[in-house]
Amino acid sequence: MVRLIRWALVSLAVLGLVGPAHTRSQTKKLKVVTSTTILLDFARNVAGDKAELSSIVPTDGDAHEFEPTPNDLKTLFDADLILVNGLGLEGFLDKLIKDSGTKARVVTLTDGMPLRRFAFAETGQSSAQANLPPGILGFGGLYPCEVPKPGQNFGECDPHGWQDPTNVILYTLNIRDALIGADAASAATYRANAALYIARLQQLDAEIWQSVATIPPKNRVLVTNHDALGYFAARYGFKMVGVVLPGGGTASEPNPQDMAALISAIRAQGVPAIFTENISNNKLASEIAAQTGIKVVQSLYTDALGAAGSPGETYLGMMRANARAITAALGGSA
Ligand SMILES: [Zn+2]
Repeated sequence: MVRLIRWALVSLAVLGLVGPAHTRSQTKKLKVVTSTTILLDFARNVAGDKAELSSIVPTDGDAHEFEPTPNDLKTLFDADLILVNGLGLEGFLDKLIKDSGTKARVVTLTDGMPLRRFAFAETGQSSAQANLPPGILGFGGLYPCEVPKPGQNFGECDPHGWQDPTNVILYTLNIRDALIGADAASAATYRANAALYIARLQQLDAEIWQSVATIPPKNRVLVTNHDALGYFAARYGFKMVGVVLPGGGTASEPNPQDMAALISAIRAQGVPAIFTENISNNKLASEIAAQTGIKVVQSLYTDALGAAGSPGETYLGMMRANARAITAALGGSA
């Protein structure tokens, strides 16, 4: 019996479940790990210099198709706090967190966000073609959707909440509360930083409104590489005419029927441009643009920040760059 208990204790110690507590000394900074660089930027704005921050998926990286390395296990193991988007964006992450044996608290930043359903996840087609309520999915409206189960890559709900800056206010509040939970001594700093960043997000939202208001109403239509801009479309009154890559992520390729449907929707609705993105292969988007004679706009920042020195180096920068590119391509005055 004693031997059994001892064996059990050794096993638990190997698993990291017992033994010296994994605590942070007073002199060490809080280690915060985010899944993506966009979340990293939010966390940086709230944490200021109180935390050491890193992202698992790099700049210009694709969270949908990310392949982790052993180094990512160590990063997660060493973390005090892990901030994730959730809603199936980071399909690789549940297992990685489990395998790392980390004791860090994992906080899902979309908790509490009004969800919208993917516009084209199921069929790669528009709402009318998919025989769904007209104008709801196609306009990116709020619509009941099933949240993906842990470890599931995609559900019905669109995870790209950050494409609406007013959702990012919620992300910011969730980050603030998570940081206070991990480091109550710095609560006043986190509160002040969050308030400042929220003011900047509200300013950004107003600027995007001003920019898109110059686009002729008939041109407020979007065709994007993958289904990432639904929340942006819902916020700023764009109709999502179609996406090149079906299924909500970046891995699926359209079948010939999907391609033909998208091409005819572009022609029928007089779509002026197709938008590529920084995280994924845009070859098919270019082919569709060539076939329909519309312009290709390089490259919106969708699921990751751009490299240092690029306009997408920060979230505020990436959203301004996206709004400028969209406005200019659709006939507004950027
Ligand atoms: Zn995406």
